[in-house]
Amino acid sequence: MVRGPSLDDSVGVLAGVSDKTEAKLARLGVVSIRDLLLFFPRRYEDFSSITPIAFVRPGVKTTVRGRIYDIGARQTKYKRMGLTEAVLGDDSGTTLRVVWFNQPWLAKSLQKGDEIFVAGEADLNGGLVMKNPDHEKVSLRPQHAARLVPIYPETEGLTSKWLRAKIQPLLHYADELEEFLPSELLARRGFLSRAAAVRQVHFPDSPQSLERARERLAFEEMFVLQLAAQLAKRARKALTAQPVPFDEPTARGFVKALPFQLTNAQRIAAWQILQDIARPQPMNRLLEGDVGSGKTVVAAMTMHHVARAGFQSVLLAPTEVLARQHADVIQSLLGPFQIDVGLLVGSTPAAARRPMLGSLAEGDLPVLIGTHALIEEGVQFKNLALTVVDEQHRFGVGQRLAVRQKAERTPHFLSMTATPIPRTLGLTLFGDLDISILGEMPPGRQPVKTRMVPPEKRPDAYGFIRKQVFAGRQVFVICPLIQESDKLGVRSATQELEKLQRDVFPELASRIALLHGRLKSAEKEAVMAGFQRGDVAILVSTSVVEVGIDIPNATVMMIEGADRFGLAQLHQFRGRVGRGTEESWCFLFTDAEDPQSLKRLQAVVTNQSGFDLAEIDLELRGWGDLAGYRQHGKDFKMASLLDAVLISDAQSEAVRLLDRDPALDGEPALHRQLSAYRQVFALD
Ligand code: ADP
Ligand code: MG
Repeated sequence: MVRGPSLDDSVGVLAGVSDKTEAKLARLGVVSIRDLLLFFPRRYEDFSSITPIAFVRPGVKTTVRGRIYDIGARQTKYKRMGLTEAVLGDDSGTTLRVVWFNQPWLAKSLQKGDEIFVAGEADLNGGLVMKNPDHEKVSLRPQHAARLVPIYPETEGLTSKWLRAKIQPLLHYADELEEFLPSELLARRGFLSRAAAVRQVHFPDSPQSLERARERLAFEEMFVLQLAAQLAKRARKALTAQPVPFDEPTARGFVKALPFQLTNAQRIAAWQILQDIARPQPMNRLLEGDVGSGKTVVAAMTMHHVARAGFQSVLLAPTEVLARQHADVIQSLLGPFQIDVGLLVGSTPAAARRPMLGSLAEGDLPVLIGTHALIEEGVQFKNLALTVVDEQHRFGVGQRLAVRQKAERTPHFLSMTATPIPRTLGLTLFGDLDISILGEMPPGRQPVKTRMVPPEKRPDAYGFIRKQVFAGRQVFVICPLIQESDKLGVRSATQELEKLQRDVFPELASRIALLHGRLKSAEKEAVMAGFQRGDVAILVSTSVVEVGIDIPNATVMMIEGADRFGLAQLHQFRGRVGRGTEESWCFLFTDAEDPQSLKRLQAVVTNQSGFDLAEIDLELRGWGDLAGYRQHGKDFKMASLLDAVLISDAQSEAVRLLDRDPALDGEPALHRQLSAYRQVFALD
């Protein structure tokens, strides 16, 4: 007996899939028959209701069912295009002219007398004519017309029509897909089975059944993710950490020594953190706040508490520049309490390194700040109780774990990010995290005036920048990565530097400096120091180099190729200015003309809140652009990260199931589904 292909066979075994097509599909992530079955439509055209020809109106999408009265092919006179022309008729007593361009084979495959569906828009052109409609012979299982027609993401030159024809004959394979939702849950929520949902999502019987299919598929995605998060959370709760007892005089003492009052948001976040670290289970908290919202002080307050209790803390920064800045700030905050702060970065000389490593191992150095790469190489602590990571999304998950596993007891973990994560996304992606949000700025911050600068306004903007520099202010210039080969943006930034020095601000040439990832750390240091002193007036930088520095005198942020950046990232750049008392500006230079790009940039102009911008970005471009969050999980096909109800439903079902069956012993299929998340949430 001949066995048909199985779900895990390559799509290459299917008829009509050449090697070339196979490669195209692979680029869409479709390798096996299973993948193809799970390659879902992006949207649907409603060709479900059939319109009698007498009622066809120009400019309206319509499906017609008619008999071919006449069909023939010819060449057009002028452009020499192949034209297939047919006349359709139905019971309504009228006829419709249909033409197809450059599809000469149609005159052979369709015959006079055939009954067909055509779906498209008719024009008035000396009578009603439908041009290049989708068509299909009338059968019991229409694919392209007379139904809700699936439209697939059309890339790599594979058309929806082609995909429909390939996928429909595979639908019976849906029965072989493993059902992994618990049967109790399926029944209670009345969800479609997985097989039915997959079939309906490709070729829905009705809008209602499509809705039910999508509901089921969105739920399963979110449910698996939430389950993984809850499992991680439970696993973490089973670990032991060093409790750092809360001591009110210690907290008060720190706050009293500050040159300013904490904002309410800072006070609440600090309180939550100090409560967390007093417990014998490791804290896992995300401190989220816009650039300039004052996260560092909250971290320093926590480190102060830990040091006072006799334990060690470490703070990891993504770059050396940031590590140094954190060390300076935290040193100045903890110095008055006689708490030493060590700095360990790539350029720390061996002579300084050795004694530092010694005192860390002895427990004599209470606070260490450095770059993550370096510290993970193997620094021994005596009693590390707290790990703080700045901008953790830049780090791989593995690195994050290595940091956590440094001590025998798991250190409490605090990550800080200025990338505003919309609330729903936070709950989704970081279901095992507790979140504190610094939703207010320290008093006295002025909004940064933001303007879009089209090419013709460039000279004006340069004139404005010149005036600012002559008034003693400083300017950032951010360059986008232009070529794939220019991964560090060295070339684009170098070109920008040359342009500014030679053509735009020749009189300031000696005060324009360049910062990019290829510079040696001593060179970077020198450039940063020059900018900090004010010798450098204009700092040209790639986006790769995090200019996470506090320069109150910088009043202009100029961003080249602004349309190439995500909104959250633009907002972060903007946060580099407006830190002093002077009015500050952000110029978004762009050549973009497409409405989508202009709309995105306009959102930055009108919105000062990073949270709002992140949400807008998520809606406009999907979550992949949120500064690297994709690395944390799989992409969703169905679930929306803005769907708070879905997220909370999935979360409560996950909790409910785990309460009943903590190890998922009764759900082997679900267990297998979870494996995709094992790495992300470190379940092993
Ligand atoms: P973030 O890391 O969140 O971007 P920082 O911690 O670097 O922000 O703080 C930005 C600036 O605001 C720093 O100069 C800091 O000293 C100052 N700052 C922090 N908290 C307050 C506050 N409550 N009142 C006034 N200034 C503050
Ligand atoms: Mg910071």
